[in-house]
Amino acid sequence: MIETPRLHEALRLVGYGLSVFPLQGMRASPSGTLVCTCGSPKCEHPGKHPLPALAPNGLKNATTCADTVERWFSKARLANIGMATGPVIVLDVDPRHGGDESLHQLEAAYGPLPLTWRVLTGGGGEHIFFLPPDGIEIRNSAGDRGGLAPGLDIRGVGGYVVAPSSLHVSGRTYEWSVDHHPDETPLAPLPDWMMAALARPQAGAARSASDWRQLISEGVTNGSRNDAVTRLTGHLLRRFVDPTMVHELVQAWNLARCAPPLQPEEVTKAVASIARKELKRREARDGIR
Ligand SMILES: [Zn+2]
Repeated sequence: MIETPRLHEALRLVGYGLSVFPLQGMRASPSGTLVCTCGSPKCEHPGKHPLPALAPNGLKNATTCADTVERWFSKARLANIGMATGPVIVLDVDPRHGGDESLHQLEAAYGPLPLTWRVLTGGGGEHIFFLPPDGIEIRNSAGDRGGLAPGLDIRGVGGYVVAPSSLHVSGRTYEWSVDHHPDETPLAPLPDWMMAALARPQAGAARSASDWRQLISEGVTNGSRNDAVTRLTGHLLRRFVDPTMVHELVQAWNLARCAPPLQPEEVTKAVASIARKELKRREARDGIR
């Protein structure tokens, strides 16, 4: 076996217990430019989408089996490395969409990010790695669609990132940042403020049924009404109740149980705002790159 840099890095990730799978790579075209090995002149994600010949189910084929990984990356020397996220959460800082500036603002507000693994992407951005919190599922979210902030995407459960040694369309490779290399740097837990912005409770981990029953039967008083309307609306929408029906139910509950009730216009505004967020969240969750 010849250990190419690609195979070396793939095995390093596997050694950390992370699952990898082969992506399309980049090769030189006759004119000298780099093109995606998928061969499509219109490829929208060059070097970033799965290699079907070896991983027909893409991310689902991701493995920590070193033998399989050796076979894949010995066979497909140009293949880039896809690394499944979820066991690690990756903050993808995309400077083309203002990610640098967004991160700067968030760090000014919440304090600098902890020392942790970082990858310099071939596109001039950064992948910042974190340990996920216990019992809370962090899924993918895009910065401009219900995520953290513009240019800041999160890769979590159901997502993947392109891993170090992979070749970017720019001609640069993804590399571990020398001061944030996993051999010398601990993997930091996801900062609390980031978790609060992204947390999506797992089924059963949220409020208990009796809490909801109490909220519904007893209502709330001035001061908790907006919060209760927000939670109730979110709860119903996440169970795929039709938004119009949610609106009617929450209006009726407000009149019957809130003391004093909120103005109906306020309820309408709150429900609409949450419905918009929920739709964005579903889009972001269902769209992986
Ligand atoms: Zn392609």
